[in-house]
Amino acid sequence: MIQAAIISTGDELTTGRTTDTNAGFIADRLLELGIDVVAVLTVGDRPEHLRWAWSEALRLARVVIATGGLGPTADDLTTETVAALLGRNLVHDEQVAERIRELFRLFNRPMPENNMKQAAFPEGAVIVPNGLGTAPGYRVAVGSPDDRRHLVVLPGVPREMKPMLTDAVLPWLAELTGAARVGHRTFQTFGISESGLDEIVAGIPGEGRWSFRANFPEVSVRVVVRGDDVDRRLDAFGREVYARLGQYVYGEGDATMERVVGDLLAARRVAVGFAESCTGGLVAHRLTNVPGCSSYYRGAVNAYANEVKERVLGVPADLLAARGAVSEEVAGAMAEGARRVLGADIAVGVTGVAGPDGGTAEKPVGTVCFGLAAAYAPTVTRRYRLWGNREWVKLLSSQIALDWVRRHLLGVPLLEIGRGGAAPAPAPAKSESVAPG
Ligand code: AMP
Ligand code: MG
Repeated sequence: MIQAAIISTGDELTTGRTTDTNAGFIADRLLELGIDVVAVLTVGDRPEHLRWAWSEALRLARVVIATGGLGPTADDLTTETVAALLGRNLVHDEQVAERIRELFRLFNRPMPENNMKQAAFPEGAVIVPNGLGTAPGYRVAVGSPDDRRHLVVLPGVPREMKPMLTDAVLPWLAELTGAARVGHRTFQTFGISESGLDEIVAGIPGEGRWSFRANFPEVSVRVVVRGDDVDRRLDAFGREVYARLGQYVYGEGDATMERVVGDLLAARRVAVGFAESCTGGLVAHRLTNVPGCSSYYRGAVNAYANEVKERVLGVPADLLAARGAVSEEVAGAMAEGARRVLGADIAVGVTGVAGPDGGTAEKPVGTVCFGLAAAYAPTVTRRYRLWGNREWVKLLSSQIALDWVRRHLLGVPLLEIGRGGAAPAPAPAKSESVAPG
C-alpha cells in the first residue's frame, strides 16, 4: 500500500489563528483511494522549518502533498525551498505568467511584479491548473525509477485547493497507485457507541478497511474496498451493515439526521411539531435548516417555564406538581399539547435537566424525558440519563427527538439507552479511529 504524508504550511496555522482544514480534507480523500497517510506535518513560514518538513516527509512517504506558501509575498517560500532541497533550478512558465497578467487585466488592477513569482516552478514540474486563483500548483517526481517519490504542491486557500486536488491530483494518484479499483461506503449511525460499532463490524466477513469517526452525537463508519469486484463487495458489506445495525443507521454519505427525518416526513406526508423545554428551540432550529421543511414542519412551542407548559400546552398543574417538570408524564402531556396546539399529526415533547445546576438525587443532571404523541397511536414516553455539559445534553436531546420521529415513521423500536449496551457515543467532539480489516 502506498504511503503519503501531508504538509500544511503557514504561520497562521502554527499560531492557531487558522484551523488546518486542508490536511483533514486531503487525508480523507486519500483514504478513499486506499492510500495511507502516515504523517501530517504543520510548519510556519520559515525556510529551515519548511526544509525540515519536506525532508522528513520525503523520508517517510512516497507521495507528499503540501498546501500553502504559494502566494506572491516574501513569506511564501514553498517553491524556493522545494527547488533548493531537490537541487533543481526555478524555471519561468510563460503560459502561467500570461494567465496571471490576464487575471489582473480582467480585474482592472496593476500587477505587482512579485506576482511573477507564481509563474516559477522547479525544473521538471507538471503544473496543476488553478481555476479560481493566480497560483497554480504542481507536482514533481524525484528519485531513481525503483525509488520514485512524488511531491505535490497546492495553494493554501481551501476553496482553490479542493477542486485542484479533486480534478487533477486524485485521478493522477489513482492511476499511479493502480487504485482505480477502490470504492467506499459511509454509514451514519446514531445511538450506538464507537466501540459497539467496532465490535459488530469486526464480525462482518469480507476484505475491507473499516474506519470510524465520532462527531458528537453521531458516529460514522466507513468501509474502503480495494481490488476486484468492488461494487459487489460493497453491496455485500451494505447488506451486512443493515442486517446487523439496521435501526442505528440513519443514512449514508453526508446525510444529516435532520435531512433524513425531513425526507421521511415529506414522503409520508406527516406534519410534525415539538414541545421543547431543555432544548430551547434546538430541534426547531435543526429541522428548519432543511430547505423545503414548510411542507411538514408545523412549529414548536418553546415551553421553558412551567407556566408556559400549563397555559400554552395544557399540561395539568397537578401533574407538574406531582411528577415534576422533568418526568415522562409531563413529556407525554407536552407532546399531546403541542400536537393539538400546532395542528400536527405527530409531536415530540422534550423536558430535562441540562445542568450544570438543578440536578437532584432522583433526577440528576442529564435526566431527559421524551414523549411522542400521534393521532393514530397511544402516547409513548421514555426517561433517559444523558451525559456531558449543558451544550452536549441539549444537542444529544435534540438528536434523540429527531431520531424518535425517524424511528416512529419507520416502525422501529424506540432508542433504549443503558439497556442492551447500546448508547450514543460518549466521544469527544471529533475523533477518528481506524480498525484494521
Ligand atoms: P497561502 O497559500 O499560504 O498563501 O494560504 C492562503 C490562505 O489560505 C491562508 O491565509 C489561510 O487563510 C488559508 N490556508 C492556508 N493553509 C490552510 C490550511 N491548511 N487549512 C485551512 N486554511 C488554510
Ligand atoms: Mg501562507
